Amino acid sequence: MSKIEHFLALIEESRNIAAFTGAGISTESGIPDFRSPGGVWTKMQPILFDDFIASRAMRDEAWSRIFDKKTKLTGAAPNTGHKALVHLSRIGKLDCVITQNVDGLHQLSGLNDKDVIEIHGNATYAACLDCSARYELDQLEPIYRLGKDIRCADCGGIIKRATISFGQAMPEDKMEHAVRAAVACDLMIVIGSSLVVYPAADIPRIATETNAKLVILNREPTPLDGLADLVIHDEIGFVSEALLKSLGS
Ligand code: NAD
Ligand code: ZN
Repeated sequence: MSKIEHFLALIEESRNIAAFTGAGISTESGIPDFRSPGGVWTKMQPILFDDFIASRAMRDEAWSRIFDKKTKLTGAAPNTGHKALVHLSRIGKLDCVITQNVDGLHQLSGLNDKDVIEIHGNATYAACLDCSARYELDQLEPIYRLGKDIRCADCGGIIKRATISFGQAMPEDKMEHAVRAAVACDLMIVIGSSLVVYPAADIPRIATETNAKLVILNREPTPLDGLADLVIHDEIGFVSEALLKSLGS
């Protein structure tokens, strides 16, 4: 049996799939991941949450990365990997996608917002850290261009892109939702994650501990490969295309 056939058989016998995706599912949409050669961390240091809060200069640097350097996280189109998940959802197999991605491409590909659990937030908008009021990036850019500190119009709180930075607390409700989904699923499919960022990488392990099968589709080995029922070290686009063909979409 080929790996694709094995993957199909696991999908066939499952009733309740949860996917866990990372930056690798979006590289074929032109969004670089963090750890591959040429990835974001090879070019710039992450800004830590405490530094963002403490320093106006750091906030300016963060907004400059968004508005001047246009770090490519938004404006991309979903690819075959995203579409394969939409297909699994339409045929009633996929319950939810737990994603570390912040690019919004799962929703853009056609999944319902309620079925996408964004444990690291969303880069396509911003929010006040005190009152949670939502702000669109387009709304904030003119304030940045005027050289002002970007503050909440309602409460004066610091506004930050709605992603979770290093050193920032994980959103508790999203993590609880993700853990519930990991416990409830009978098959967890990891796509495009190095599985080294914690606590996110605990999610697939929790699924195996509660008797779900685990498939890992990633170009490179991950620390959880030994726990998986099937590991495919290949390109996500290639495997997704083959899956879609076999599933008759
Ligand atoms: P990562 O960069 O640590 O790992 C990505 C993995 O995907 C790598 O192991 C790489 O080998 C693999 N990969 C890349 N392209 C692939 C392809 N076409 N086919 C098969 N495998 C491929 O990413 P991570 O595990 O998601 O952790 C990084 C953190 O970075 C996350 O917390 C996430 O929030 C953030 N991030 C998000 C985006 C995004 O939203 N698109 C982009 C960069 C980083
Ligand atoms: Zn506010």
